[in-house]
Amino acid sequence: MGYGAKPQIKINMKIVLASRNKKKKAELQTLLAQYIEGIEILSLDDVGIYGEIEEDGVTFEENALIKARVAAGSGYIGVGDDSGLEVDALGGAPGVYSARYAGEHGDDEANNDLLLKNLEDKTDRSARFVCCIACVFPEKYGYEPIVVRGYVEGEILEERHGDGGFGYDPLFYFPEFNKTLAEVTPEEKNKVSHRGNAIAAFAEKLKMLELAE
Ligand code: IMP
Repeated sequence: MGYGAKPQIKINMKIVLASRNKKKKAELQTLLAQYIEGIEILSLDDVGIYGEIEEDGVTFEENALIKARVAAGSGYIGVGDDSGLEVDALGGAPGVYSARYAGEHGDDEANNDLLLKNLEDKTDRSARFVCCIACVFPEKYGYEPIVVRGYVEGEILEERHGDGGFGYDPLFYFPEFNKTLAEVTPEEKNKVSHRGNAIAAFAEKLKMLELAE
């Protein structure tokens, strides 16, 4: 379903996203609303859960589940996500270490520089962004956790193009757009992105459950 289309179902419920980032909360709220009406996304701060979550999983799925479990400690349905870049010629690196590939967490410039350096002699530039979303239910629902994965396939360029997006977007060429993901609008990116695809898959799973509060 594209942007602007009406969601087909309504589920009145609150979901706690394992994040303190207001943008991430708003993004999940907007993207989920394309598929399901009535869901209110809360952040960890909204439910009084403070402190750092140690993301020590070795897969995106593990990290997403670690976060979702913390959020579900609120008594509401808990959701966690983890995402990153997998580059084939680097054996899947930077993977779960994408945010701190060059050492310091969230240093996008250094991460991109290191990626270019490590790919200097490589002809295979194929890569994908991956996003895993995990959902953990309070006991009263009796549901096993849901874990879904979304991805977008592309190629790593030899230099940056565009100043939109974040992270590795300026180096990530998406053939169908003939552009990097830093050269398109957030709406265009959401339609094809790993995160957009993961949220669509997550919404499909939620729709199949009996969840109304
Ligand atoms: P997080 O799971 O959203 O914290 O993302 C982890 C890291 O993966 C980010 O710091 C980025 O380096 C990279 N990453 C994840 N999603 C994207 C994206 O959509 N564009 C560019 N980089 C991304």
